[in-house]
Amino acid sequence: MRELQPVRGTRDIMPEEFRQHNYLVDQLRYFAELYGYSEISTPIFEFSDVFKRTLGDTSDIVTKEMYTFSDKGGDEITLRPEGTAGVARMLISSGLKQNLPLKYFYNGPMFRYERPQKGRFRQFHQIGVELLGVPEVIGDIEVIALASSMLGGLGILSQCTLEINTLGNTVSRKGYRHKLINYLRDYRDQLSEDSRRRLDRNPLRVLDSKDKGDKKIIENAPEFVESLDAESKDFFSGVKEGLDKLSISYKLNSRLVRGLDYYCHTAFEFTTGGLGAQGTVLAGGRYDGLVEQMGGPKTAGVGWAAGIERMAMLVNHSPDRKRPIAVIPVVADLQMEALLLAKDLRSAGNVVELGYRGNMSRRLKRANKLNAIFAVLIGPDEIQRGMVTLRNLDTGNQEEVSLDTLTDHLSQFL
Ligand code: ATP
Ligand code: MG
Repeated sequence: MRELQPVRGTRDIMPEEFRQHNYLVDQLRYFAELYGYSEISTPIFEFSDVFKRTLGDTSDIVTKEMYTFSDKGGDEITLRPEGTAGVARMLISSGLKQNLPLKYFYNGPMFRYERPQKGRFRQFHQIGVELLGVPEVIGDIEVIALASSMLGGLGILSQCTLEINTLGNTVSRKGYRHKLINYLRDYRDQLSEDSRRRLDRNPLRVLDSKDKGDKKIIENAPEFVESLDAESKDFFSGVKEGLDKLSISYKLNSRLVRGLDYYCHTAFEFTTGGLGAQGTVLAGGRYDGLVEQMGGPKTAGVGWAAGIERMAMLVNHSPDRKRPIAVIPVVADLQMEALLLAKDLRSAGNVVELGYRGNMSRRLKRANKLNAIFAVLIGPDEIQRGMVTLRNLDTGNQEEVSLDTLTDHLSQFL
């Protein structure tokens, strides 16, 4: 039955994958805290206007990918397709402007109605960081450095290439926009329908087209660098100098434009060859115009987001689980003693499994399956004397240990 399948593009995260998922989040948490960023969580849904205003009405996300619905009160609601808009909304609605600069990181599910394929889902997860209120070049350098540290911590930095570009300041962008329109006009009829629509409203986004025909035309489009004014050039030089200083290697990619409308100056992506068409692992840039565009005070911003599922495909180890201790009553009526001993062992920080049913050998089998390191066997005579049998499940060796010293005894092995 269709209703008993997960909705297309969504998936269940089973324990092993979820451990890895958490491991990725923990890595970000670790590095983000070293850089002085604090974790936040914004709602999973917002008024649709939050996204419409920030993502621009010609972006793929707004035109095709949003999960939008009217709620029972008649409000138009959208499941968040990305994290930055919500953070900007929070900045405005919480009146946080006085506290700038602010440094936040987040993790959580995002929703986009896309064609599901490898590394592309309709519900996926992102971790991301936002640095607000820092218009200086050092902000761009720091957020890229944080990304690089985190990917390094995950052991996947060597599989990734940092690509950077500049979109310049508003003046430069205007100049380039002009040149680009002039160039693209000649090819208007050959452009895809999407790109034709963008040509009128947001020509820069044509450069982001994934259409094969468009890509050919784009190849010979004027280069952005030729339109950069002195300020924009300086800014970009500063970013490159900082990255050089930190020994973070990068590749210039003059065709790199972020899919979202509010970016200026630095745009960057960490890409990999290991994931087929979905090669972008982490993407971000500077968005100085965003908060103002939403109706808030002018606020500089720079940040990035990374797809957890895509990173997980590159990370090939997940942290080991702490091996459990199995507490096993030799006879059924010692169940309560087992329960009590499990409680004590857990209080001391041990992972404990109770084999809920069956005879001793069945419970031992289950303990082995759970990769238990020890079994604590509770027998009727021993327990009278305050003793239990401790069996090492790796070696099969066993010894009698007094209940009073059991935790101490175990701590030397765990
Ligand atoms: P793409 O070009 O792959 O569509 P995008 O430009 O839409 O990416 P962003 O909005 O910048 O992506 O999101 C940042 C990151 O989130 C991406 O680099 C990717 O790792 C991840 N991501 C985006 N969309 C999806 C998706 N549908 N499924 C899984 N991960 C995604
Ligand atoms: Mg996309």
